[in-house]
Amino acid sequence: MTCQLSNQDVEKAVAFHGHSCPGLAIGIRAAEYALRKFSGTAADDLICVTETDMCGVDGIQFLTGCTFGKGNLIHLDYGKAAFSFYDRDGTKALRLLLRPDAMAGESGDEPDRQEIERLLMSKPLEEIFKIEQIHGPPPRGARILASLACDSCGESTMESRTRRFAGETLCIPCFNQVEQKI
Ligand SMILES: [Zn+2]
Ligand SMILES: [Zn+2]
Repeated sequence: MTCQLSNQDVEKAVAFHGHSCPGLAIGIRAAEYALRKFSGTAADDLICVTETDMCGVDGIQFLTGCTFGKGNLIHLDYGKAAFSFYDRDGTKALRLLLRPDAMAGESGDEPDRQEIERLLMSKPLEEIFKIEQIHGPPPRGARILASLACDSCGESTMESRTRRFAGETLCIPCFNQVEQKI
């Protein structure tokens, strides 16, 4: 089934992202699926774990309300076009992975960019994503962790992002500087 979101919602997502592109279309369709499956979940209780930081994340942020600032959007830097959605109490969770043939045209020719966008917005969701149920609670956001002062620059840094080096606690930029000197 073709994208069920209203044209208005799609246009607003494009405006938020700044342009329309195949990556955004992937995020829009992932958001469409999440909104349908989690229709009974309050917006603040929906959590998205994205395994990419590409264009599509903007569609998800805009349409689902999962945002970095609120802490219900978590980025795992795996470089995969995969998005998992959880409700906060962990009763429902699923993962969408972009299918390798999601952007293939019907005729087998190499579609151009515009045609890819059209395909992504019109194919049934099951042809775009491999969809699987997953189990376990959502990963915790990082905001509740304590901060430590970096021993080199003194700036307060989230504990999980600090590095230990020669007995010192360093932020990532300071650690990178030390590492380059070795
Ligand atoms: Zn884009
Ligand atoms: Zn530092």
